[in-house]
Amino acid sequence: MKLTVLGNYGPYPKAGCACSGFLLTSDSAKVLIDCGSGVVGKLQQFIDIEELDAVILSHLHCDHAGDMLTLGYAVDIKIKKQLRSAPLKVYLPGEPLDEFDRIASRASFEVSKIGENMQLELKDIQITFKEMKHGFPNYAISVKKGNRRFVYSGDTMPNDGLIEFAKDADLFLCEAGLLERDEKCIRAMHLTAKEAGEIAEKAGAKRLLLTHFLPDIKVTHYINEAASVYNGIMEIAGESKTYFI
Ligand SMILES: [Zn+2]
Ligand SMILES: [Zn+2]
Repeated sequence: MKLTVLGNYGPYPKAGCACSGFLLTSDSAKVLIDCGSGVVGKLQQFIDIEELDAVILSHLHCDHAGDMLTLGYAVDIKIKKQLRSAPLKVYLPGEPLDEFDRIASRASFEVSKIGENMQLELKDIQITFKEMKHGFPNYAISVKKGNRRFVYSGDTMPNDGLIEFAKDADLFLCEAGLLERDEKCIRAMHLTAKEAGEIAEKAGAKRLLLTHFLPDIKVTHYINEAASVYNGIMEIAGESKTYFI
């Protein structure tokens, strides 16, 4: 499998960049994981929209789902031009209802609500979910092919469920929406970079990618915090970079 980073900012992007969006591809499947602001433009640098098999949304905050309606327009046009025959499969949490309905009402999407017991088979990959702790319902996502496994946290506060879910992941993409210094003044519903490192270390994740950065903070601060507690291979989820799993 391959993971290409389309956007790594939250809750708003840096100039010219995008919020959360990740293209996961295998020999036969092409899946977009999260579709935050700016992701549709970035996606087309790598594949045509008609090639997408499915979209999976960790949760419905705009920095993870804000470009979905724009994607819907694109899929509508591809269907009208007969470049695509079927609606695009979209897997997403069922709440909040108004956000869910906004996406589910698009005729170009075939939506399914994510639940913890859902096990998806999309061509040659298997996908499972685990509910996390965040302002909106958020599911961490595991993608498996053969004996290789990728895990993405979505947005979450620290919780032991994520340690268990990321156990021995070959690649663990984890949000680091905060630094420890922020945590002292705002307890937002996110992980600090240090907490992301601790979770990766306890889970025994083989490789850690940090994501979900505030635009005005140097990424070295995130790396330094996580590196103080995590002993594996670690880097920033670099925009437009591709990682092999
Ligand atoms: Zn976010
Ligand atoms: Zn969020």
